[in-house]
Amino acid sequence: MDIAAAWPNSLAALGPAFYTELAPTPLPDPYLVGINPSLAAALGLDAQRLASRAGVEAFTGNAPVAGSRPLASVYSGHQFGVWAGQLGDGRAILLGEIESPAGPHELQLKGCGRTPYSRMGDGRAVLRSSIREFLGSEAMHGLGIPTTRALIVTGSDAPVRREEIETSAVVTRVSPSFIRFGHFEHFSARGQIDELRRLADYVVDRFYPECRGTPKFAGNPYAALLEQASERTAAMVAQWQAVGFCHGVMNTDNMSILALTIDYGPFQFLDAFDPGHICNHSDDAGRYAYNRQPQVAYWNLFCLGQALLPLIGDQELALAALESYKTVFPRELQARMGAKLGLADAREGDRELLEATLKLLAADRVDYTIFWRRLTRHVAGDSSEAVRDLFLDREGFDRWLARYQERLGAGTAEAAQRMRQVNPKYVLRNHLCEIAIRQAKLKDFSEVETLLALMQSPFEEHPAHEDKAGIPPDWAQHIEISCSS
Ligand code: AMP
Ligand code: MG
Ligand code: MG
Repeated sequence: MDIAAAWPNSLAALGPAFYTELAPTPLPDPYLVGINPSLAAALGLDAQRLASRAGVEAFTGNAPVAGSRPLASVYSGHQFGVWAGQLGDGRAILLGEIESPAGPHELQLKGCGRTPYSRMGDGRAVLRSSIREFLGSEAMHGLGIPTTRALIVTGSDAPVRREEIETSAVVTRVSPSFIRFGHFEHFSARGQIDELRRLADYVVDRFYPECRGTPKFAGNPYAALLEQASERTAAMVAQWQAVGFCHGVMNTDNMSILALTIDYGPFQFLDAFDPGHICNHSDDAGRYAYNRQPQVAYWNLFCLGQALLPLIGDQELALAALESYKTVFPRELQARMGAKLGLADAREGDRELLEATLKLLAADRVDYTIFWRRLTRHVAGDSSEAVRDLFLDREGFDRWLARYQERLGAGTAEAAQRMRQVNPKYVLRNHLCEIAIRQAKLKDFSEVETLLALMQSPFEEHPAHEDKAGIPPDWAQHIEISCSS
C-alpha cells in the first residue's frame, strides 16, 4: 500500500550494528479494531484510507508498505534491577518515518511476528493488551503527558497462547523516536564505543541539538544529553505521579531517551489512593509500586549515565548531570500538585498541605480522580458535601478543608478555572478498558471508539458518559494484569 510519499529511515542510516532488516509475518483475515482519526490528521494521513481493506492489510504487516524499509532494532537493559543482556524489538517492526506537519514521526508495528530479538517469545501481541496500549497511550496524550502514541489497531483470530488462548492484534505506534536507555546500555556493555558514540551523536543532533552548546558542560554534549534526559524524565514522572499513573514495568529498556511514556503493559491509573499500589501482578516485591516510581526513574537514569560514561569521560561530570533530577523532580511535582489544589503561586507550607492531603486520601483509600474533580467543583461554588462524602474520617476532612480554604483565600473562580484544566474527569481505569476489551472479543469495537474520544478530552464534561466518571465497581479490584501480553 502507498501510505506516504517517502519513508526516510534515519535509524537505518546508523548502520547494520543497530538493527536487522526483515518483513513482518502476516496474520490471517485481519480486521479493524480501532483507528485514531485525530492522530491521522496530525500526521497528514487520511484516516479513511488507513481504515480501508488495503490499510488494514498493510498495518497488520500482511502487505508491504511502498517505500518503507522495515527493521527491528537491538537494545539491552536492566529488568527488575538486574542486567538482562540483549533484548531488542522482539515483536515490533519499524517501517520508517513519516514527514508530517508535526515533524518526522516513526511508525512501528507491534505484534507483527518474530524477529531475531524475540528470544522465547512468539512475536505476537494479544487483542487485550493492544487495546490497552491504544487507549492508554492516547489517554496519556489527552492528559498532556509526553508519550508514544497509537494510530491504528488491527486484529486477527489467529490464536496466541498466554495464560489462556487469546487472539492476535497489531498496534501501530507513533513516536519521533523509539530509542530507549537500553539502546545505549547495549553498545556500552559490549564495549562498542564507536557505535555508542554514533548513537549518542544521532540522538543529540536530531533531538537535543542544544546539547552541543551547553555552557555548563562546555565541549561535552554527552553530559549535557544526560542532564537533559534527567530533567525531562523528572518532569514526566512528576506528571505520572500527579495524575496517579502507574507504569508497572519501569525497566531501563522501557525508558525513552526522549522521556516519553513508552511500553504500555500492566499500567494503571489509580482508583483508590494507595501510595504503595502495585499494578503489575508479577511484581512481587513492588519494585515498581506507584510511590517508588520517582526513585526508580533516578535509578534508571543512573544506568544511562553509566552507559554514557565512556563518552562523558569523567565520573564527576556524569554525576553532576544526574544531579538535576533531584531538583527538577520535586520542583515539578510541587508545581503539578499545587495546580491540582488550584494554587496560583508557591508558598511556605504548601508542601506540608500537600502531604496532609495525600495522607488523608490514603487513610480512607479515597478515589484519587474523583477527589480532585469534586474538590474542583467545590472550589467552583458547589457545597463541600460531595467531597466530604468520600471520607470516613469526616472530622479530619473538616480540619483539612478549613486549612485548605485558608490557604486558597479569595479568587476561587480563577482557582477553579485552573483546577478544571489539571484535574481530569476521565482517566482510563482498568475496568473501563476491560469492558471495551470484552466487547471487542465479541467483535463489537464501539466501546473502543467511545473510550478513545473520551480519553482524548478528559478534562471536559461528557454528560452522556457520567457512568465512566464514577466510583469503579467492586470487580475492578480483582482485575489482574501482568507483564505477559
Ligand atoms: P517488555 O516486558 O514488554 O518490556 O518486553 C521485554 C522484552 O521482551 C522486549 O525485548 C520485547 O520485545 C520482548 N517481548 C515481549 N513480549 C514478546 C513476545 N510476545 N514475543 C517476542 N518478544 C517479546
Ligand atoms: Mg518493553
Ligand atoms: Mg511491553
